[in-house]
Amino acid sequence: MSIYLLLYFLILGNVLGSFYNVIGMRVPEKKMFHSERSCCPSCQHRIKAYDLIPVVSYMVLGGKCRHCQQKISWLYPFTELVTGLLFGYSYLVIGLQWELITAFVLISMAAILFVTDMRFMLIPNKILMFFLPLFLILRIITPLEPWWDPIVGSVLAFVLLFFVILFSRGGMGGGDLKLFVLLGMVLGWKGVLLTFFLSTIIGAAISLLLLSAKILKRKQAIPFGPYILLGALITYFHGDAMLGWYTDSFF
Ligand SMILES: [Zn+2]
Repeated sequence: MSIYLLLYFLILGNVLGSFYNVIGMRVPEKKMFHSERSCCPSCQHRIKAYDLIPVVSYMVLGGKCRHCQQKISWLYPFTELVTGLLFGYSYLVIGLQWELITAFVLISMAAILFVTDMRFMLIPNKILMFFLPLFLILRIITPLEPWWDPIVGSVLAFVLLFFVILFSRGGMGGGDLKLFVLLGMVLGWKGVLLTFFLSTIIGAAISLLLLSAKILKRKQAIPFGPYILLGALITYFHGDAMLGWYTDSFF
């Protein structure tokens, strides 16, 4: 482990995280993100380069736009910070191996979909279709054990979510299904089951908390994507240990 590499990945994740914010905010609105520079979402003022430093700028500006004083969503610094921390964490857990790229790609997709689902309750096909070939290639370079695990994982994810959607009526949608199929490719079939288990448990717990604190209204729809992504990341990093503990204790 090199402290310089760790710092490098922390900063890389932060910088990419601010880029993923921009993608996540603009892809659902069908704006092309490379044709124009970053603007304030409320006054459309162009944001100067010195105000685009991840996290730091947000704190210097006190969470407000320099021009219209409109509050800037906490989603921006949150996504930047967490992407950075997760990049650093991946390096600590995995080290300098090919699998580290898979981790970075998974975190990148999670960051973008977190923004789109929180903002627009959307898991855009465009984003999933961008990451699908990347995961395919990465699972050829760094295969799971056994090699067919990603295929079984994807099929299981499809069948599982198909029936959940059929019987739950509204809780999860087609976007969640497609996301799960993609995650099956990365995590394998046990990973799919663990992700499903974790995301429903965490989702239910947090929803109950928000309901009892009256932050959430009873009929209000909540995006489920962030829970799936959180469950998937926990599974990705610690699934083997958790499943090992489970089989050791109960079988
Ligand atoms: Zn503004």
